[in-house]
Amino acid sequence: MKAMILEKPRPAEQNPLTLADLPLPEPEAGQIRLRVRVCGVCHTDLHLVEGEIALPKLPLVPGHQIVGTVDTLGAGVSRFAPGDRLGVPWLYSTCGQCEYCQRGLENLCDKARFTGQHADGGFAEFMVVPADFAYPIPESFADEQAAPLLCAGIIGYRALRLSEIQPGGRLGLYGFGASAHVTIQVARHWGCEVYVFTRSEEHQRHALELGAAWVGQAQDTPPAQLDSAVTFAPVGWLVPEALRVLRKGGTLAINAIHMSPIPEMPYSLLYGERTVRSVANATRQDAVELLQLAAQIPIRTDVELYRLEEANAVLQRLKRREIQGAAVLQVA
Ligand SMILES: [Zn+2]
Ligand SMILES: [Zn+2]
Repeated sequence: MKAMILEKPRPAEQNPLTLADLPLPEPEAGQIRLRVRVCGVCHTDLHLVEGEIALPKLPLVPGHQIVGTVDTLGAGVSRFAPGDRLGVPWLYSTCGQCEYCQRGLENLCDKARFTGQHADGGFAEFMVVPADFAYPIPESFADEQAAPLLCAGIIGYRALRLSEIQPGGRLGLYGFGASAHVTIQVARHWGCEVYVFTRSEEHQRHALELGAAWVGQAQDTPPAQLDSAVTFAPVGWLVPEALRVLRKGGTLAINAIHMSPIPEMPYSLLYGERTVRSVANATRQDAVELLQLAAQIPIRTDVELYRLEEANAVLQRLKRREIQGAAVLQVA
């Protein structure tokens, strides 16, 4: 099968992915094999190919926003049938035994494995995944519209929940890429007033189209203090900027798997019982809830569609923040 593989991490500009012909992966017991139709490209893929986060498996097929159809069932799988259309997100497997798994925090599992990091992902014609970690895609979504829901959507939803925003509250979003453009639609559905901070004029325009009450840059001061905020851009200096406009008792959720250092800041920015917390991965429950919500709202994703072979160019565009909405690779 055709795949774009990473053999050694390198800056995106040096085209780290190469086209390869790999043997078909065989599903083990409890797994299924999917014929990949599309796979979204996430900022985490950029961190992976550039070696900013751990690479436990090399060579590696990245990609963790996969929509495909069931091709072959491994032993003991009965919940799906060949031909079913499923999505595969970042969370690939958990141990089910550790204290986090037992407490409903499987996103923090000590032995969690991730799609396109510990196991080959969707920048390929086929991939295998445990059946318990794949999800039916709501029928109303075309493949490429569904792909960005699978990481950008799910993790954005978890970040929104962890930000403790209440219906009708004032929410700040820092950065307006794939995840924020889905998250704003959930927040608007909850009746929130959304303030979007981004340098890019195209992204500001996009945010206004999707119902932002106000747009500006991180250094700007919005007309009202925020109840909650979520940062999406992986830059540490946003933390003091976001705290500066957060009300007392408010929460800032950092949606980043990797971020530049947070600068030293005066304690007064945090004082007043403000909370800063990170968001790490997402649970299966988050995936189920977000997919349900996406169909119900309904969420509309804006995507730029590329061929599998263009994966390097897409990573470069992502790095330059040139993607409007989400980038998706058409595989089949
Ligand atoms: Zn566990
Ligand atoms: Zn992702």
